[in-house]
Amino acid sequence: MPAPVLEVRGLSKSFKAVKAVRNVSFSIAKGRTFGIVGESGSGKSTTARLVLRLIDPTTGDIRFQGVDLAAMRQEELRRQRRHMQMIFQDPFGSLNGRMTVRETLTEPQLVHGIGAPASRAEVARNLLAEVGLPSSALDRFPHEFSGGQRQRIAIARALATNPELIVADEPVSALDVSVQAQVLNLMRDLQDRHGTTMLFISHDLRVVQFMCDEIAVMYLGEIVEQGPRDRIYGAPAHPYTQALLASAPGKGAGKRARLSGEIPSAHAVPSGCAFRTRCPHAHERCAIEPPVMRQLDDGQQAACHLLDQAVSV
Ligand code: SF4
Repeated sequence: MPAPVLEVRGLSKSFKAVKAVRNVSFSIAKGRTFGIVGESGSGKSTTARLVLRLIDPTTGDIRFQGVDLAAMRQEELRRQRRHMQMIFQDPFGSLNGRMTVRETLTEPQLVHGIGAPASRAEVARNLLAEVGLPSSALDRFPHEFSGGQRQRIAIARALATNPELIVADEPVSALDVSVQAQVLNLMRDLQDRHGTTMLFISHDLRVVQFMCDEIAVMYLGEIVEQGPRDRIYGAPAHPYTQALLASAPGKGAGKRARLSGEIPSAHAVPSGCAFRTRCPHAHERCAIEPPVMRQLDDGQQAACHLLDQAVSV
């Protein structure tokens, strides 16, 4: 098996007394998309920022193409960033309003010393065509475009350095529903064409199902279940995953309980299993003992006392 492009082990981040991310581990093989899904406050966006070292981890390893990013100094990190790009939720906020599209698309190449001025301009034109915008857009400014077009420009900018890894944090949640599918289809096409590896963050189960090969479900800073997409959606093992799926728009709850109540504050994570205050199966042990991650079939893993007969990871 080829080495994963990204391997994260035991990643944790505390902000003073708040443990925002706790002991997160996963890996992504080349060309695959790994999704992290969960409610707001689950720690998924903090995990995305940790992976790119936009914030520093409290503990844990982040290996990108075999190199330890967690221990890397700023100068080395800056060189590595050429190979790791991010797409943000708000394309308006993430684009510089004073830069033309041409400047937006040539700047990352300039910063990382890629190509000569003429070839950078040619790359910018080609990138625009790839994201379905005409070359007449090159001399316009972000405010002259719709939200969907701006996100296309942000995607083109992320591809400008031909990165190995793209981290996309809620890339379509600020867009109209009618535009979301177009942008998601574009991202999938481009990924196929470029062979890019992707970490994809979303609260939207339908979007994650459409985009991702492997999925991790996060709750209050921890991964509670992960595995191949078809296992997570076809045979969810953790009560939180089951409740999320039962609560998704357009899904009948069936026999499964929908999600009730609010996610607790990260300042006051419940003892034992963090999900116990909302879990319909919670029992005495759940308040005392944190469940360990158990290995299920076909690479699926989940952390719940109801799975005690499965092998611990
Ligand atoms: Fe529910 Fe207990 Fe399982 Fe947590 S460990 S998900 S509270 S049954």
